[in-house]
Amino acid sequence: MDHLWDAKIEYLKGVGPKRAELLTKELGIRYFSDLLTYYPFRYVDRRNFVAISKIESDSYYILLRGKIVHIEEIGKGSGQRMTAILQDASGRIELVWFKGISWIKDQLKLSHEYIVFGKPSEFKGRYNIVHPELELFTAETQIQDKAFMPMYSTTEKMKTQGLASRSMGKLTQTLLQEIGNKIGETLPGGIIRGHNLLSRREALKNIHYPESPEKLLLAEHRLKFEELFFLQLEYLKSKNIRTAKSKGFLFSEIGEYFNRFFHQNLPFRLTKAQERVIKEIRRDMKLGHQMNRLLQGDVGSGKTLVALMTMLIALDNQFQACLIAPTEILAVQHYNSICQLLKDMDIHVEILTGSTNKAKRKVLKEQLLSGEIHILIGTHALFEDDVVFQNLGLVVIDEQHRFGVEQRAKMWTKNHTAPHILVMTATPIPRTLAMTVYGDLDCSVIDELPPGRKEIKTLHFFDSARLRVFAFMKEQIKAGRQVYVVYPLINESEKLDLKDLMDGYLSISRDFPMPEYQTSIVHGQMKSVDKDYEMNRFKKGETHIMVSTTVIEVGVDVPNASVMVIENAERFGLSQLHQLRGRVGRGAEQSYCLLMTGNKLSADARIRIQTMVKTNDGFEIADADLKLRGPGDLQGTQQSGILNLKIADLVKDESIIHQARQAAMQILELDPNLQSEENRILQYQFIYKKDRIDWGKIS
Ligand code: ADP
Ligand code: MG
Repeated sequence: MDHLWDAKIEYLKGVGPKRAELLTKELGIRYFSDLLTYYPFRYVDRRNFVAISKIESDSYYILLRGKIVHIEEIGKGSGQRMTAILQDASGRIELVWFKGISWIKDQLKLSHEYIVFGKPSEFKGRYNIVHPELELFTAETQIQDKAFMPMYSTTEKMKTQGLASRSMGKLTQTLLQEIGNKIGETLPGGIIRGHNLLSRREALKNIHYPESPEKLLLAEHRLKFEELFFLQLEYLKSKNIRTAKSKGFLFSEIGEYFNRFFHQNLPFRLTKAQERVIKEIRRDMKLGHQMNRLLQGDVGSGKTLVALMTMLIALDNQFQACLIAPTEILAVQHYNSICQLLKDMDIHVEILTGSTNKAKRKVLKEQLLSGEIHILIGTHALFEDDVVFQNLGLVVIDEQHRFGVEQRAKMWTKNHTAPHILVMTATPIPRTLAMTVYGDLDCSVIDELPPGRKEIKTLHFFDSARLRVFAFMKEQIKAGRQVYVVYPLINESEKLDLKDLMDGYLSISRDFPMPEYQTSIVHGQMKSVDKDYEMNRFKKGETHIMVSTTVIEVGVDVPNASVMVIENAERFGLSQLHQLRGRVGRGAEQSYCLLMTGNKLSADARIRIQTMVKTNDGFEIADADLKLRGPGDLQGTQQSGILNLKIADLVKDESIIHQARQAAMQILELDPNLQSEENRILQYQFIYKKDRIDWGKIS
């Protein structure tokens, strides 16, 4: 690697210490290489100067060419501004500055010709351009520049100090002149040829100054591929290292507990998918390295059973196991159903939550330490430091998207050797994310529902059709079914949320009067005894309707409930809607999900509702969600490098992600330590990158 690459940005012609500081502070650009990989966000075809009289929209950036015919300073202090009139053969337009006036004043020369770049806006029936970028027009400029002008995003602060897109463009131009021909390759020749990639040199030149639209596409492709390839290589490598290094407990036995459960207690046949996943888990735990597995399965696919059977394997090998759920309701439910499933098996199961009292807690802790407790089920309370196991061999985390990565890591420290970890989620992770964010986890998927389930029918109603919906609910209740009515929680104001819920409850109580109809209500501000009481009434079929907030979103299991009414459905995100819908369709009856919305829907909300009506497939929904929201909001992304991607796009570049991952896997398979002549170049990248990352942190 050429050392010029590593030169401090300060030493680039046209930068100097002051601008260097600005570049570092505002954009994180410290070295030549940082600037070289600071890519334009779009391009302007500079052969197309717009005639001033033809400006007709304020939605686009445009390029003008004309003479400055008037300059004026107006006002003083904070109201101060500067205007100039630009004139071409067709007309005139006003340019305006509110900031950086003294700097502009030095730059601007009356009667000279300029190239002006900016976004017109309409003001009092005429167009003007606020804070345009300017460049003196000379014969030389015309010859030098290529047709496509790169646009770099910069900050307000940079703009007022003369470092806007145009000046950035000049810097990249200088940079390419200085080191352009010395840019080295980072990928092995085999990959370049195999994937028809541009050389790195050509790609970098063309990403800043494309020779043609076709070249630009090739350049983008090459740089995206490279970025994703190294990300994958890193994930896959760290996974290899982990499997090689981290010792895990050896669960070699399938014994009494597992077998007895399987042959005597299991109330139904496992689905093929459950069987396959249990095998995958088995294989993992026999290898002697620590398992770190993500189990994805749509709501109702039977993950709990897989968790339980995995825990039994731990018990068969003389280890303890725990199961952590995100809410108390869910923990209690797991506790009850697991006790039920294990009945007569002489396995000591306990539950620990935030509302476990002190005395009970003390006993539990003693029994945990002595090994008397086999399986502990609970909530966050399990993460606390004073909860110590005798020998914890397996941690199962349910609905993992609700927990942070740190909490997952915390369970590791409860033992000398890390226990096996199984995280379960019903919110499918979009394929592209799974391959990247969770690239270092192993994944199992339950892609099949237990037999006899009927596809849930999802319908959309406007609020005005409420009477029809109520009539339908009555019909269903008459047929012996139960109904959920869910209201959104919008954290802004708990009071208002509660009011919405109570209003809804009242109106339902009016339309579904006692004693013919019984209605339960559950929300987050109730005491947990009251919550449990109401949940149980509903579970036992004593109430017909359960009015609640999203506290029931996760995991609650009442097979006889076949109708889910979601109020203000437009306010829910896709994955939440999908989770809620999963509360029904658990029995053999036809189930329904009714999405209630107001008449006015935003474009996004409409897509969400349409997606829900169209499909029950969690993966399809997750992909739609990623497209709507981008990766920033999705689980797990914050901790990964994914949001720092410079050019690749998780939504648009799915096929490149596949190619890159495939390529990385192939390479590591043949040459795990990247030692061959051809692959050494990759190893260098690793070392180089690591060094640099640390550098950044230190300084
Ligand atoms: P989730 O994956 O959403 O956590 P659960 O584990 O709660 O799903 O299972 C949903 C329901 O399906 C439960 O009532 C469970 O008893 C039932 N179930 C699980 N596996 C099977 C199976 N193989 N056959 C029939 N029913 C099953
Ligand atoms: Mg579950």
